[in-house]
Amino acid sequence: MSNYIPIIGLEIHVELATRSKMFCQCSADYFGKEPNTHVCPVCLGLPGALPVPNKKAIEWAICIAQALGCHINAYSKFDRKHYFYPDLPKGYQISQYDKPFGYDGAVSLDVFKNKEKEYVEETFRIRRVHLEEDTGKLIHGGDETLVDFNRSSVPLVEIVTQPDFHSGEYVKRFLEELQTIVRYLGVSDADMEKGSMRMEPNISLLPCTGDLSGDMDLSHLHARIDDGLLPLPGYKVEVKNINSFRFVKLAVEHEIERQVALLERGERVKQETRGFDEKTGKTYAQRSKEDAHDYRYFPEPDIPPLVFDQAWLDSSLHAIPELPHMRLERYVREYDLRYQDALILTRNREIADQFEEIVVTVSAHKDIPDSVAQKVANVIVNKKIGLSRGANAFVKEFLAHYKPKEVDTAILDGVIERVIVANQKAVDDYKKGKESVIMFLVGQAMRELRGKAPADVLKEKIVERISP
Ligand code: ZN
Ligand code: MN
Repeated sequence: MSNYIPIIGLEIHVELATRSKMFCQCSADYFGKEPNTHVCPVCLGLPGALPVPNKKAIEWAICIAQALGCHINAYSKFDRKHYFYPDLPKGYQISQYDKPFGYDGAVSLDVFKNKEKEYVEETFRIRRVHLEEDTGKLIHGGDETLVDFNRSSVPLVEIVTQPDFHSGEYVKRFLEELQTIVRYLGVSDADMEKGSMRMEPNISLLPCTGDLSGDMDLSHLHARIDDGLLPLPGYKVEVKNINSFRFVKLAVEHEIERQVALLERGERVKQETRGFDEKTGKTYAQRSKEDAHDYRYFPEPDIPPLVFDQAWLDSSLHAIPELPHMRLERYVREYDLRYQDALILTRNREIADQFEEIVVTVSAHKDIPDSVAQKVANVIVNKKIGLSRGANAFVKEFLAHYKPKEVDTAILDGVIERVIVANQKAVDDYKKGKESVIMFLVGQAMRELRGKAPADVLKEKIVERISP
C-alpha cells in the first residue's frame, strides 16, 4: 500500500433548483412527477425547436464558480457535445467546452489527519465549472425500457476538480463541503437520493519511487506533479452510481485496494468505468472507457456567445454569503467554540444563523456570563432544546433551564461585603436615593464571582444589606 500514492479526481453534477428548465419554459421540478408531463418541443429535441437560455441558471452557475474560487470567463459560450443514447433526444447535449463559466478555482478546508481527529487545512483545486443540460431518464423494467423526458434539459452544473485527493476520507470531506456550499448559496438542494447531486470519482495509482517519502505534504506533491516531475498514471478508473458520502468513501477505498492488488501481481489496471455495489461494498466493471471520446464538440449555433460585464461579475461575487468553512473558523475564533461543535453548527446555514441569533439574545441578559456561546452550542448539538419553534422559543427555554452554578451563601455574603467596602461612594449615592448605582454594585459582585450567581439574587442581597 505504501508503495503507491492514490491519485483521485472528482467530477460532480449538481442540478439547479430553478423554476424552469435550462432552455425552455417547462417546470424543472420534475422529481416524482408523472412521466413525460414536463415536456415541450425544445426539451424533447423536436426538429426546429429553438433553445432560449435560462438567465437564472447562468447566474447561479457563475455564483457556484465564484464560491469555489474560480476565475470567470468574461466571454463564454455553449457548445454541442454529440453522442448517441436513448435518453438524449437531440443526439447532442448542450454543454460548454473550451469556455466554461469558471476555471482554476480552489477550495480550502480542514481535513482530519488521523483517527484522533487532528485536522490540517488542505487546498483542493477546481479545474472547471460549467453549465449544461440534464438528460432524460431510462426506466428499466421486465423486458422493456421506457424513457421519461421530465428531467431532459434541467439545468446541471458540472464541477471538475484536479486530481488532488489521495484518500477516500478526503474525497468524502470535500464532497460534504461542496454540498454544504451549494446549499448555503441556495441554488440546489444537492440531494443525492433524488439525484440532484451526483459524484464520480476517478482513481489511479502512482507508484512511489524511492525519493517520495511518506510524509511529503500535499502541496509539495501537487507542485511536483504540475512541474511534470511526477508523471500521472496513464489510466483512470471512473466509478459511477454512488449515492451517499459513506459509499463514495467505501468505493474509493475498495478501488484503491483492488488496483494495488492488480499492480502487486504485476498486472495492468484497465481504463474503464465501474459501478459500485452497495451490498458487497465493491466496484464492478461496467464498460471499458475509450481514451479520447470523439464528442465532435462545436459551438452551439442557436445560442449567441455570452459576454459578462465586469461590474456585474463583481456584484455577483459580493453577493456570495459567508461560506461554511469561513463561518466555522470564525466560530472557533470569535466564540471560542470547540472545533467539533462549530463544524456541526455550520453544516446548515439556517442552524448557524439561529445559533448566532440565540447567542446575541442570551448574552444581552445580564445574569448570563459572557462565555455563553459554548453552552448554547452544547444545548443545540445535544438537541436538549429543539430549534424547530424558532430562536425566540429556544432562548425562553434556555433561560428557564439555565441555572448558574450554586454559590455557597457564605462566599456570596463575603463577596458582597468586600464590594460594599470597596465602593463606599456608590453605596452612599444609593442611600441618597440614586437607585441606578445598584446595578453597578451587582456588576462588581458578578465580576468577582465570574458570573456564577444569578444577578437577581445578588441584587436582592445587596439591596437588603445597604438599605437604610
Ligand atoms: Zn421543455
Ligand atoms: Mn456532464
